[in-house]
Amino acid sequence: MRAINFSAGPAVLPESVLQQAAAEMLDWRGSGMSVMEMSHRGKEFIAIAAKAEADLRTLLAIPANYKVLFLQGGAIGEMAIVPLNLLGARKGADYIHTGEWSKKAIKEAKKYCTPNVAASGEDRNFTYVPARATWKLDPNAAYVHVCTNETIGGVEYDWVPDVGDVPLVADMSSHILSRPVDVARYGVIYGGAQKNAGPAGLTLVIVRDDLLDRALPICPSAFHWKEQAEAESMLNTPPTYAIYIAGLVFEWLLAQGGLAEVEKKNIAKAALLYDYLDQSSFYVNPVAKADRSRMNIPFKLRDESLDEAFLRRAKEQGMVQLKGHRSVGGMRASIYNAMPIEGVQRLVEYMREFERRHG
Ligand SMILES: *Cc1c(COP(=O)(O)O)cnc(C)c1O
Repeated sequence: MRAINFSAGPAVLPESVLQQAAAEMLDWRGSGMSVMEMSHRGKEFIAIAAKAEADLRTLLAIPANYKVLFLQGGAIGEMAIVPLNLLGARKGADYIHTGEWSKKAIKEAKKYCTPNVAASGEDRNFTYVPARATWKLDPNAAYVHVCTNETIGGVEYDWVPDVGDVPLVADMSSHILSRPVDVARYGVIYGGAQKNAGPAGLTLVIVRDDLLDRALPICPSAFHWKEQAEAESMLNTPPTYAIYIAGLVFEWLLAQGGLAEVEKKNIAKAALLYDYLDQSSFYVNPVAKADRSRMNIPFKLRDESLDEAFLRRAKEQGMVQLKGHRSVGGMRASIYNAMPIEGVQRLVEYMREFERRHG
């Protein structure tokens, strides 16, 4: 019996992907071995990685002048890897501070440069994205860093910031592949796979070709985008099994008709939960409507003393991982691509029933 899993990450994966992986576990398509046991230099695995990259390129319509890298280190690793690869001779970079993950990116950048916080949502407790007109960008910045979906605060960009000729760098960990993206507007897109794209261990990096010549000499080879691009992400052993599973997820997304179709489902799922929250006085979501995340929906019970009972009874009904991040408390429902609408319907029904009993 599978749980209805609202985890923020590692998170729910499509059941059909898990079933296929199970069926191929001992013998991948007549190879006589599991994907886990294959050489990353063998023709079978090279075909798996090439198909995964081609499908990701199709899904996101990635232009030919962008490299796709399958790396390790996670998004927190990438927060350090970004300045190591992009600073060149420049001393500073701009950061837009929209919550916990932006804060971590700024902390990592401080080890290599002087980050300029060009805008911050702190004045309203990180419940919104500061309007572009308020950003105080430095024209000499090496890049502008944004976190386009704050997984903890539930704040998502619904627009692409125009930052002129300075490269725009985005941590898209928790909403990549949830909607179409105009990749050409970005210099670099990165994300850990374990939220919406696959298992932990794989980091996706999409980088424009002309940004590959700016790495600092101290940049480790395993994290050096140009060296990894030249080695087809195989300068070191890549996370082979995670790439295989992510590849199956990409196929699953394509079979649904691609990201425009996937986005429609995500809009419907999020609307279901937000509409319920908005008409209730028992639950509250603090995020500005225009900036609400479709993927991560934090909410609070007005009476915190009911939190424990809420979580316990949800678990009894098979709904797990609804506890909010420790830094904000309350609840959080992460409803990634692999969460079926029936899961969100079940949650809303449960919330309605709980409100009736305790409201
Ligand atoms: C989860 C998450 C991270 C951290 O990813 P790791 O793989 O644990 O390093 C960074 N940014 C965002 C937006 C996230 O959701």
